[in-house]
Amino acid sequence: MSRYEALRNRLADVDARGLRRTLHPLAMTGPVTARHRGEPVIVFSSNDYLGLAQHPEMQAAWQGRGAGSSRLIAGDRAAHHALESALSERFGRPATLFNTGYMANLALVTGLVGRGDRVASDALNHASIIDGIRLSGAERTILEHGRAPEDPCTLAVVEGLYSMDGDVLALDTYGGDHWLAVDEAHAVGALGPDGRGEAARQGVEPDFVVGTLGKAYGAFGAFVIGPPELRELFVSRGRSFVYTTALPEPVAAAALVGLRLADDERRERLAARTTRFRRGLAELGLPALGSAHIVPLVLGERTMRIAAELLARGFFALGIRPPTVPAGTERIRFSLSAEHTDEQIDRLLEALDACHSLERVSR
Ligand code: PMP
Repeated sequence: MSRYEALRNRLADVDARGLRRTLHPLAMTGPVTARHRGEPVIVFSSNDYLGLAQHPEMQAAWQGRGAGSSRLIAGDRAAHHALESALSERFGRPATLFNTGYMANLALVTGLVGRGDRVASDALNHASIIDGIRLSGAERTILEHGRAPEDPCTLAVVEGLYSMDGDVLALDTYGGDHWLAVDEAHAVGALGPDGRGEAARQGVEPDFVVGTLGKAYGAFGAFVIGPPELRELFVSRGRSFVYTTALPEPVAAAALVGLRLADDERRERLAARTTRFRRGLAELGLPALGSAHIVPLVLGERTMRIAAELLARGFFALGIRPPTVPAGTERIRFSLSAEHTDEQIDRLLEALDACHSLERVSR
């Protein structure tokens, strides 16, 4: 028996359930255009919502050194402090940088709760929130999506804009005698006054906000906004802050440029594209979930076939399957960018209209 037989068995199990995933190399040729296996495509799957990842000023900012160690050892740089200052100013409270949103959620949840605490977590929360709760040892109450906690808890965690459903919750219903943390990974930069996210758009001030720098801000990395005590705690005890090499300087420098470039003009363009695409889908009898720039079309078991049809027509929009979403709710998750043109959106709508496998709700 081979040493790797157990791995082959696991893969066979993935295959048996039809859930093998593959990588799709994209050679970007513009803000929303690419070559996929040599063929030109328009990309409708990226989280580069404001189209900043290829902005010339952003590209020019990717300069500097790797950090060489964690921030606590020899990796604390002016670029990190400049970015944290700009984030603190933008969001009105101290910001702490993390290498990824995944790591930010791990540090936040494990920093706030432990054994003996209870976390109320929305059923559709991201894997990194779920993993943070598991790691913390706290008890977990899964909240039906969109339902505020009714029983006592130490911490309630929700997302500002749900990444697979494109919807937002009524955040003012989540207050109470517990902390509220909002993961605004898909909302910061794109939604709310000054791009401060969905909670800010709703006039709600959560205790803690998680934001990412690799989506609307076009760079990479993440941050947590909270009281000064939280930052101190992260620096001394946040395992995913302490025990990892700091962000390379060029990444922090690019994120700072992204923060500056993420302006109302881009947010307005993104909102206009969102309205156009959602309206077009409704006119085709293809109602999408949610309300924002993430536009999920639930297609069930036809999802992968339709995604393949769209790809053959030059549109890169991936199908999302379990375990990312529940079985039976497989979907194509379109994400819009301020850099999409009206014409590109109209062409996508025409391609959807021409898809053989689609069934309309009504016309
Ligand atoms: N939170 C949410 C809601 C996300 O969707 C993601 C990533 N897709 C993350 C956190 C993790 O962010 P990052 O990609 O920076 O690790």
